[in-house]
Amino acid sequence: MDYLFTINRKITFILFLYVFINFFSFSQESKKILVINSYHEGYEWTDGELKGIKETLKSKFNNIEFIVETLDRKRFSYLDEDKYFSLLKNIFKFKFQNIEFTGIFILDDSAFKFILQYDKELFPNIPIIFCGVNYFEDEMLNGHDNITGIVEFVDFKSAIDIIFEVQKDVENIVVITDLTLSSRINRKAINNLSNEYADKVNIKFIDEDEKGLTLEELISKLEKLTRKDAVFFADFFLDKNKKTFTHETILTVISPKCNAPIYGKGDTSLGFGIIGGRLNSSYYHGVTAAEILIKIINGSSIKNFPVIKKAINKNMFDYKQLNRFNINVVPKDSIIINIPKSFYKEYRKEIILFFILIFILIIFIIILSFNIIRRKIAEESLRSLFESLPDMVKIHDFEGNFLYVNKNACKTMGYTNDEFLALRHYNIDDKEFSKGFKNRLKKQLENGEASFEGVQVTKSGKKLPVEIKTKVIKYRGKKAIMTVARDMTEWKKAQREKEELLKLLASKNKELESIIYAASHDLKSPLLNIFGFSKEMEVNFEKLLKILDNSDSIDNVNNNDVVNIKEDYIKSIKYIISSIEKMDNLLNGLLSISRLGKSILELKIIDMNKLIKNVLESFQYKINDKNAQIKCKRLPDCTGDVSQINQVFSNLIDNALKYGKSNDELKIVISGEEYDNNSIYCISDNGIGIPKDKQAKIFEIFYRLNTEINPEGEGLGLSIVKRIVENHKGTVSIKSDAGKGTKFYISLPSPNKREED
Ligand code: ADP
Repeated sequence: MDYLFTINRKITFILFLYVFINFFSFSQESKKILVINSYHEGYEWTDGELKGIKETLKSKFNNIEFIVETLDRKRFSYLDEDKYFSLLKNIFKFKFQNIEFTGIFILDDSAFKFILQYDKELFPNIPIIFCGVNYFEDEMLNGHDNITGIVEFVDFKSAIDIIFEVQKDVENIVVITDLTLSSRINRKAINNLSNEYADKVNIKFIDEDEKGLTLEELISKLEKLTRKDAVFFADFFLDKNKKTFTHETILTVISPKCNAPIYGKGDTSLGFGIIGGRLNSSYYHGVTAAEILIKIINGSSIKNFPVIKKAINKNMFDYKQLNRFNINVVPKDSIIINIPKSFYKEYRKEIILFFILIFILIIFIIILSFNIIRRKIAEESLRSLFESLPDMVKIHDFEGNFLYVNKNACKTMGYTNDEFLALRHYNIDDKEFSKGFKNRLKKQLENGEASFEGVQVTKSGKKLPVEIKTKVIKYRGKKAIMTVARDMTEWKKAQREKEELLKLLASKNKELESIIYAASHDLKSPLLNIFGFSKEMEVNFEKLLKILDNSDSIDNVNNNDVVNIKEDYIKSIKYIISSIEKMDNLLNGLLSISRLGKSILELKIIDMNKLIKNVLESFQYKINDKNAQIKCKRLPDCTGDVSQINQVFSNLIDNALKYGKSNDELKIVISGEEYDNNSIYCISDNGIGIPKDKQAKIFEIFYRLNTEINPEGEGLGLSIVKRIVENHKGTVSIKSDAGKGTKFYISLPSPNKREED
């Protein structure tokens, strides 16, 4: 509905506009003006008249239409006038039968003659105004009430008078005429005036004897003139040789050769070489004629406008000629042509437009500069903030080209700022991490920010674990990605150490538990022994007291009873002492294990060949006693605390010597090699071996097997070995089968091993 309503409204509006425009154009129906020109378009005089008519009417009426008919009598003067006019009359009658003219203008004599003949038939009651007519007599208008106009009258007196105003020191006025009829008439009129000026100036004709001059003769005469002379150009349409000229062609030739200023009588000569003068103006003829018609249109009767017979002239000058003759005084009301326009006047619009543009540009530049300064200040403060951050701050475009990096990024990654800015993301991202660049970019653009972990590689090739946070920002007017990366190396190391410590704590806890268990378990049996035998001693002591109480004298004491008690005592004391010794051993063992935990390692490179040699020497008695065959291969060095490593190998060699088979010859081989930055040693024997299910247990504190073979043992040797080796960041492992011998593998850091970052 709304749509239909809108369409309806539009149609109504268009209809209204149509009616309004039609009404307006009807009320403003155009005024049709007919101009009948005696000559042709291009003839200066009638062109000037037409211009004056058109400009004056157009300045008054908006809707005015001109129809210009040319009789072209200059070029077609040979045509029979009566016949030609009669034909034209018929054409006009046919052509203008339906046109109602507001007014008719007649330019010059030929058209005037034509209209006097046919005005009643062609244009009855239409106001007709003529101008530029030379041959006029009042009787000509008898019976033509609708005709008035302006006669072309040359006022030679005022044309000569103006010369004195402009050229005060003039001595001779030289008049140019030719032999045409009109020129002879003009010559006569000027000649009549010469007496009037006799005391003031000498007026003479350039063609003194009135026989005519050739162009060349005219020029040579003009060349002889000086600044004391003035030339009055009346006419020169025809030379002695019957050569014809227009004002333009003759003046443009003679003016440059003439050494005196040339004055004229009509404005059609102005601009072609005359200096000017009091000039009959074709233009003002037209203007005056048009002004008469305007008054008639506005309601005046044509009868109120008698024919104007005075000259329609103006003081008119050519700036170029004034300049040429250094003349700078002309009457105030003069019209001056060819005044050089100032650059400003000529290009006023363009200059104003140019300055407006410049102004707009300056405003733009100021706004832009202001924005740039503001952005620079913001960028600078952001930059100084970035520079102070401990993290690596980088800004890159969507292709991964770095646009900005802070000092810390350069320092951490090992590049100079310029080197860094020449890189792309894949130059610093680890290969694997770099593969995900596009996916990460997508995520960042979708969410505006992102965070992830990655690995970046420094200039020296060191891999850095990094935690990265990114944000999409605008950098230098374009979207870009800002990344803040934190080097996590230290954090990761601390994390690893923490995990190791936790593991160590757990194992220590476990070990402590086993120690407490073993200690409480192993200490319990000697304690029970002490308790039991102490009780027995108490019973025996009571028994002894009773015996003594029941006997009068010591001699009556039953010797057997006392002997029995004594034997029991001795036995009890023996057990108590052995239990105390056992407890002492156990406590000493615990003490030495606890000391191991506390002692600080003095790490050195150990020559293991030397160390094993010393150990074997200390076991020389036992080796001989067991008749053991010992083979020691060339051993690699290791890093460790000499006394503790000595302890490890002493315990292992001691065990190998202890747990040999009774009937086989004992063979012990000590070997070693370097593998993966560790020195791995093997102590192999062909002894009784260790059952698979007990192999983990034997490293526990106080755990013992084969007590019958070695009743003295305390089950501490291997747990000490394990602790020492693990304190050295090494490992112990075992390879054995019951009855088939045992191989202990000890891995210790080789001197080549670097401390891990
Ligand atoms: P101890 O020798 O004092 O008993 P250890 O801690 O040194 O304590 O050894 C624990 C147990 O491991 C021993 O009781 C023994 O049964 C077994 N064992 C250690 N070394 C060997 C070996 N080379 N061959 C066979 N058994 C061994």
